[in-house]
Amino acid sequence: MSGLRKPVVLASIVMSLAAWPPAQAQQSPAVLFQNVRIFDGKNGALSPPSNVLVRNNRTERFSAAAIAADAQMINGGGRVLMPGLIDAHWHAMLVRPTPAAALVDDVGYTNLLAGAEATSTLMRGFTTVRDMGGPAFGLKRAIDDGLVAGPRIYPSGAVITITGGHGDFRHLSDLPRTIGGMLSRMEKIGASMVADSPDEVRVRAREQLMQGASQVKLTAGGGVASPFSPLDVSTFTEPELRAAVEAADNWGTYVATHAYTPVSIQRSIAAGVRCIEHGHLMDEATARLMAEKGIWLSTQPFLDLSAASGLGPAEQAKMRQVVTGTDTVYALAKKYRIKTAFGTDVLFSRALAERQGAMLASMTRWYTPAEALIMATSTNAELVGLSGKRNPYPGKLGVVEEGALADLLLVDGNPIDNIRLIEDPAKNFLVIMKDGKIYKNLLQR
Ligand SMILES: [Zn+2]
Repeated sequence: MSGLRKPVVLASIVMSLAAWPPAQAQQSPAVLFQNVRIFDGKNGALSPPSNVLVRNNRTERFSAAAIAADAQMINGGGRVLMPGLIDAHWHAMLVRPTPAAALVDDVGYTNLLAGAEATSTLMRGFTTVRDMGGPAFGLKRAIDDGLVAGPRIYPSGAVITITGGHGDFRHLSDLPRTIGGMLSRMEKIGASMVADSPDEVRVRAREQLMQGASQVKLTAGGGVASPFSPLDVSTFTEPELRAAVEAADNWGTYVATHAYTPVSIQRSIAAGVRCIEHGHLMDEATARLMAEKGIWLSTQPFLDLSAASGLGPAEQAKMRQVVTGTDTVYALAKKYRIKTAFGTDVLFSRALAERQGAMLASMTRWYTPAEALIMATSTNAELVGLSGKRNPYPGKLGVVEEGALADLLLVDGNPIDNIRLIEDPAKNFLVIMKDGKIYKNLLQR
């Protein structure tokens, strides 16, 4: 009897879980945006007033003529419909905790905290993030399953670093490491892994790929928020970097490295790395090399020091050096026409995360508003697509075109005329749609 009852009880639990409403999302078989002007993510000019039909999770049709469809109507009133924004350098698990809390807190709490932040990220209009380090696989799954509202996540999993490198958050009291001995806390939770030989790198890279990493992230040089690595150091050797590149290449994807200096960038490129994260201290020769080889630059508009407020004096000094390099890296990227992606790299600060859109708007220091918006949509989509066969969301992102995945924002105003509209997403993004589902609609009566 009890043997018969058990499956029934289990089945009812599964059914009730299946009926659990995805946070705030409204599933509609079809949605028709009427009278919108389209910023398609590729061209700075808006379309004439148009109608856009979304069915299931794709943009099915758009037309200046009326579209007849059995669909939920959203009257755009001549407002601008644009692709959802993409942040090419994000850390979904590391935005809200402090550095210490990220390591010592209960992982259940850490995941729920990251879930809350993921919902905020989506509500800022960022419908996709490329996660450049942190244990985000569970969060990604919960979002994809509709349990938590959040952006699409292209996860790297744990950052792979060397002993003392950027991302090694151990204490001096953790040394010396016993080879083959216990893992440190940061390694157990999958935040970052220490690897000191090509063989160790290969293991750690493969472990991230096994968990579903869409790309692999290594730190090729020193960093700001890392007590033991000066900015000028190069960390991995070329054979170590190449071990990760081979593992990723065998898996159909690529390696990105954290690198500020010419040496760390050039060594990464020699090893087959396809994307450089940051690059703020690069020189002319390195910029020319990146352009020649078609290497991506995923960099960030670091302009103020408030990001370093929680850091010690030595790290603040490093931050100043990077901020000084920000004008240089964008000047070189433009001069040599390097493929450049936009990201924010927000760490350990909810307040800074709320400025995610403002950081994109700050790109007008170097680019036109249209150029900045194109970078944060179709260009960033091209970079996330570099994950090839490991792309967790095959389909076109970052554009409004027929057949593309329906990640859309309806903006109350024209962001190409006034990019600062994206600084206040709560007010100015009237509709937020991801994967054809409406997560916000202020026009609903
Ligand atoms: Zn980062």
